[in-house]
Amino acid sequence: MNFEMKYLVTPRYLTKPSKRRSGQRMDPGVKFIVVHDTGNPNSSASANVRYYENSRNEMSASAHLFVDDREILECIPALTAPPEKAWHVLYSVQTDNQLFGYDANNAAIGVEYCYGDRIDADEAYRKYVWVIAYACHKYGLDPAKSVVGHFFLDPRRKSDPVTGLAHSRRTYEQLLRDVVSEYRACRNEIPDPAAEWGRENVSGTVTATVKLNLRRGAPSTRAPVHQSVPAGTKLDYAFLVRKGEAVNGNRVWYADAAGNYFWSGGVR
Ligand SMILES: [Zn+2]
Repeated sequence: MNFEMKYLVTPRYLTKPSKRRSGQRMDPGVKFIVVHDTGNPNSSASANVRYYENSRNEMSASAHLFVDDREILECIPALTAPPEKAWHVLYSVQTDNQLFGYDANNAAIGVEYCYGDRIDADEAYRKYVWVIAYACHKYGLDPAKSVVGHFFLDPRRKSDPVTGLAHSRRTYEQLLRDVVSEYRACRNEIPDPAAEWGRENVSGTVTATVKLNLRRGAPSTRAPVHQSVPAGTKLDYAFLVRKGEAVNGNRVWYADAAGNYFWSGGVR
């Protein structure tokens, strides 16, 4: 599976060993992504990394990636080399363990969003969304379940990235949705229309009790007829949908492997 590499991820690693970069590998590998903002309006990605490097032996706080309108900088290996630990969520916080089964510092990539009046919000946001989606792709994570905001993990101390996104006229909920869309678009995944119709992946065989139309592409009497079969015909179904067109109050339709739908009221 390919992923569209719209942007460069530029390595600018902090010197190790240091307080900010221990050099330790992530224990279980990458299991989720924590999204942050810098909390410091108008500080650029390169300024943040420079500050981290200059103070690398003074403080331990760190994150893997900084994203602004110009570039995506990686200061702790995450995407450009085997992932190392960074210190971006307090170990005493328990929400990460409850949600994902790991401490974020051991198993999550931390991505920092740069914002402020001197940073092009649209461009920074595009890069931010893309790199989060790319991290999900690279580590086989479900983008709908694997991205969480720092504020969500540590609500009493943190408000990021809600604050930074608000500067860009965006919400956290929109970020989560946009990451999923970007992930699918960059993987060239065609949306499955059956998902909207309440697809359930159960398969089996049924028998037509009436002359039955197999409808092409949609669970609807308005979809074109692919084939008509007489009563008594055995039909294999590959999945069903629960929200097809209601016929006599029944909205369940079966579908064969080719995506032809037939109404469940016409079979037993
Ligand atoms: Zn944070």
